[in-house]
Parts: sequence; structure tokens; C-alpha cells
Amino acid sequence: MNRRLRARAAGVGRRCVVAVERAILSPVLLWGGCWCGGVRYRVADEFLYAWNCHCSRCRAATGSAFKPLAGIEREKLEIVQGADELLVVGDDVLNDTRCASCGSFLFSVVRDGAYVHVGMGSLIDVPSILPTAHIFVGSKAPWFEITDDLPQFEEYAS
Ligand SMILES: [Zn+2]
Ligand SMILES: [Zn+2]
Repeated sequence: MNRRLRARAAGVGRRCVVAVERAILSPVLLWGGCWCGGVRYRVADEFLYAWNCHCSRCRAATGSAFKPLAGIEREKLEIVQGADELLVVGDDVLNDTRCASCGSFLFSVVRDGAYVHVGMGSLIDVPSILPTAHIFVGSKAPWFEITDDLPQFEEYAS
């Protein structure tokens, strides 16, 4: 192999390594969205925590016994479709974000706008993380019985 060919082969090898490194380092992305299909988001499968929240606000906002939520840095969630069709209840740094067309709850922006709490029911793909605790069990709906063995906290998980 002459010198030029060797250099080219080395270049291809380097490009392969870069491609493989990129594939390993780039996060797995999960799809989520509302039921009418108007809004679609992508979020990194890098959630920092996940809880089932039984607080009265989460129950009312979702119409459910509790809200399974998963927390992640805000910049790791991207609205891919329907960014102009969002119903934002609250302000830029603290809100519940829904689809304006069908009303589906998608996520909350929390903690001074730095994090989002994704409503896990809005995830289309299956995340790596599972809820690890029930929180705000002190305000749990009296008609709902927790039947799993996850730890329960009166308010925030400690
Ligand atoms: Zn919708
Ligand atoms: Zn809550």
C-alpha cells in the first residue's frame, strides 16, 4: 500500500471510530405526545428520578388517582411537532404544558424552569427508569389503594 492509500485507509478507520463513538455517546431518544397526534416530543432516556405523585394538584390536573412523572433537565426535551399548538397553563418557568387541541397533559416545567416533569403516560416509548416511590401519599385519594411495595412518602421523597 502506498503512502496515500495508507493515509486514506487510516482516515476511514478514524471516521468509523468517530461514528461508533457518536452512537455510543448520543442518548437514546424517546418519543412522546398527546392522543390526537398534534404534539410530538422527543426526550432523552436520561431521567434523573421518577415518582408516582398523589398530591391533589397532580390528581386534579390528570383526572387520575396519581400522576407518574419523570424528571429531567429541560433542554433534554424537544418539541418536534405542534410547538405552536401547546396550551401552557402557568408561565415560562412553572407550568403545565398540554396539547391545545385535545387537552392531553404532556409535562410540567418546574424548578425555576430548569427541569421538566414528564407525565409518563404521555411517553410513547418505554423509558429505562420506572417510578421508585409514591410521593404526597398524605393527600392520596381515599378511594385508591396502593398495592405495590414501593416506598411511600407523606410529601417529597427523602
Ligand atoms: Zn393533541
Ligand atoms: Zn403532584
